[in-house]
Amino acid sequence: MAGEKRDVDRRTGRKNQSIYKTIWKIGGAMLNQEQLKSSVLRNLKADYGKVIENATIYEKYHAVSKAIIEQLADDWYRTGSTYEEGKQAYYLSAEFLMGRALGNNLINLDIYEDVRDTLKELKIDLNFIEEAEEDAGLGNGGLGRLAACFLDSCATMNLPVTGYGIRYRYGLFRQRFEDGFQKEEGDHWMAHGDPWSVRREEDEVLVQFKEATVRAVPYDMPIIGYKTKNVNTLRLWQAEPIKDFDFQQFNNQEFDKAVREKNRAEDISRVLYPNDDKLQGKLLRLKQQYFFASASLQDMKKKYKGKYGNQFESFHAYHAVQLNDTHPVVAIPELMRLLMDEEGLDWEQAWEVTQKTFSYTNHTILAEALEQWDCKLFKRLLPRIYQVIRQIDKKFALKLRDKGYGIEEIEKLRIISNGSIKMAWLAIYGCHTTNGVAELHTEILKNHELKEWYRLYPHRFQNKTNGITPRRWLLLSNLELSKLITELLGTEAWVTDLNKLKELEKYRDDKAILKKFAEIKMKKKKALAAYIEKHEGIPVNTSSIFDIQIKRLHEYKRQLLNGFHILDIYFRIKEDPKLDLIPRTFIFGAKAAPGYFRAKGIIKFINEIGKKINTDPDTKDKMKVVFVQNYRVSYGEKLFPAADISEQISTAGKEASGTGNMKFMLNGTPTLGTFDGANVEIVAEAGEENNFIFGARIEELEKIKNSYDPKTYYENTPGLKRVVDSLVDGTFDDEGTGMFKELYDSLLLGTNWHKADNYFILRDFAEYREAHKEIDKAYRNPEEWSRKCWMNLVNAGKFSSDRTIKEYADKIWYIKPKRIL
Ligand SMILES: *Cc1c(COP(=O)(O)O)cnc(C)c1O
Repeated sequence: MAGEKRDVDRRTGRKNQSIYKTIWKIGGAMLNQEQLKSSVLRNLKADYGKVIENATIYEKYHAVSKAIIEQLADDWYRTGSTYEEGKQAYYLSAEFLMGRALGNNLINLDIYEDVRDTLKELKIDLNFIEEAEEDAGLGNGGLGRLAACFLDSCATMNLPVTGYGIRYRYGLFRQRFEDGFQKEEGDHWMAHGDPWSVRREEDEVLVQFKEATVRAVPYDMPIIGYKTKNVNTLRLWQAEPIKDFDFQQFNNQEFDKAVREKNRAEDISRVLYPNDDKLQGKLLRLKQQYFFASASLQDMKKKYKGKYGNQFESFHAYHAVQLNDTHPVVAIPELMRLLMDEEGLDWEQAWEVTQKTFSYTNHTILAEALEQWDCKLFKRLLPRIYQVIRQIDKKFALKLRDKGYGIEEIEKLRIISNGSIKMAWLAIYGCHTTNGVAELHTEILKNHELKEWYRLYPHRFQNKTNGITPRRWLLLSNLELSKLITELLGTEAWVTDLNKLKELEKYRDDKAILKKFAEIKMKKKKALAAYIEKHEGIPVNTSSIFDIQIKRLHEYKRQLLNGFHILDIYFRIKEDPKLDLIPRTFIFGAKAAPGYFRAKGIIKFINEIGKKINTDPDTKDKMKVVFVQNYRVSYGEKLFPAADISEQISTAGKEASGTGNMKFMLNGTPTLGTFDGANVEIVAEAGEENNFIFGARIEELEKIKNSYDPKTYYENTPGLKRVVDSLVDGTFDDEGTGMFKELYDSLLLGTNWHKADNYFILRDFAEYREAHKEIDKAYRNPEEWSRKCWMNLVNAGKFSSDRTIKEYADKIWYIKPKRIL
């Protein structure tokens, strides 16, 4: 029965001393379980005219979510008014990869178990309705998920930070495989409604483009911190027409024309662009960027004016605006426009305020990702903004000339050159701070990619190594391990102070604890295996090594290297059926951008390898390949805790940070990786001896890049030719698409846009195979293996996004926590 007193809290493992456990407290109000029940029943009746017995799973999910949100309203409002006093930070991001809200919110409110038990009385299974929630997949990958983790940390630390973004009607496409090929479907994530958003029509603003003006209507999502009353806000803008449709035209039977304006406005927030780390210079994309940047700044300006009147010379003293990559950088000239054209500041004043307001995070050094906009296109859409950028560029060039810069040096740094606008340059110049996202990445920025900028403004550069929220990525997704940690530490403090995990290092030789730890891993592997069997139709052996690579599909992430190696094992077993190997399950999860032909070819290739291996009687008990469909945040929550190996095998220098690597580490999984991104810091924390590092380092690649000949490796590395040739020798069939031949050529011939084997797969193959052999050897000693896992877990403290956010707050935003009572 719910409400009964239990001796031990099943989630935390702690003695349950509170006699008030039956009354849970959210939003500062006492609410008992009877109230939760009646609220759920009332919602079902009011919204759907139903009772529990005939309500669908979605309706139940809805009714419960609304019952929870109802209780937050007062604290949410109070948080907003408390933050209004003094300086606030704003996180502008075109992407927020939020995932599911219900379970996470209950965890953060610390009422997960109570709600679960109460719902049981209504014959509602919390687990079941949690699975009914669609992910809010309003992002592509790491960059969008980082934004989501940051919001969680800001709320948990009571920091006055608001997220601003776009309320895409369709999130990142849904993926399924048909004959091993990726197929995409629209992700209408709010088809069943969106109980976690509140429409705030009273705060709508107008955004003007040359050709049309659209309404930006905000939808607010509550961001619930862990065990705090503070409720922060993610404000997402939805584009709507000024008028729904033209009645005159409608009456004249011109239906098409009548709805045209409506559709054109709604197009702006209709769909997320599915490109990760690649620019597509499309007009609609620029519209999206300006739409949310302008709406967000207008929102700030309106509130500021209401409070401080026309004192816009001090705007920056109350606003710190972080630009997540270059996507929102058009906010820089937009603020200039608002300050000059609407608030009457002169250029110099406006520029000083602007520069002191903004800071910029660089997320990538891949050339294809650096945003540039064609001047003509830009000018056609936003003539006034274009004018402002021209002016910024001109004044900057004069400044450089006065500093004694030569013509060539000036040309390298100019914001407008060759008929396009370089958004990263505009960002660095228009912001007081630019940061990279891992130590290695920041060093590459300073010494290579942004060398000239670093020389010009050394004090503007900072590093902020990425992090992840321990709430979603451990407490929510791995209750079992969380419980063990709390038990051993005797406190839950680690949830908000992750460095506490270090105190557990003393158990590294404690056999009983290592055994318990290994049992938890097994439990999570079994849960994942059941889920995979249900959703992918493939049974997997839970005593095999779960070797997992989950991330967007990109050549630089080198899923192809993993595929080649799997195929190499296959051929070795075929040659020698007695080959002594620990059984392996190779698990992939990755979406390829729909227009990225080569990435789709890699998916098809790995699926073909899987088909062969999973059905061959010689190998099917020794190895298995599973490419899960539609990898997303909620699937990740099942995958990360179940992993034995974390594949982080990008070409050195290409992965700015990575955050998937941190999620694995926090769940006690050794990294098989290159010296790239945050892998470097992970290994520094957990010890190289507890991870498997291989491959060429940046310095070596720098040296060989001009003389690199993949053919040498192709011909001289035993077994390599065999797997590469499988792309073209008839081993596999790409059904006439030409995908496999194209992949083969990319490795050995190169193309007009890049050299052969641009990502050094053939160079690293042999070392990668050796690293796998090391894993096989190490896994044979269960205690030794568990110790490696343990050392990763206990040294993961640095990678909490709480640490990252504290650094942003202290060193870039200059804001302080404000806890509501
Ligand atoms: C964490 C995460 C990512 C980022 O993974 P990387 O390995 O760092 O590229 C991408 N997608 C989802 C769904 C994630 O949760």
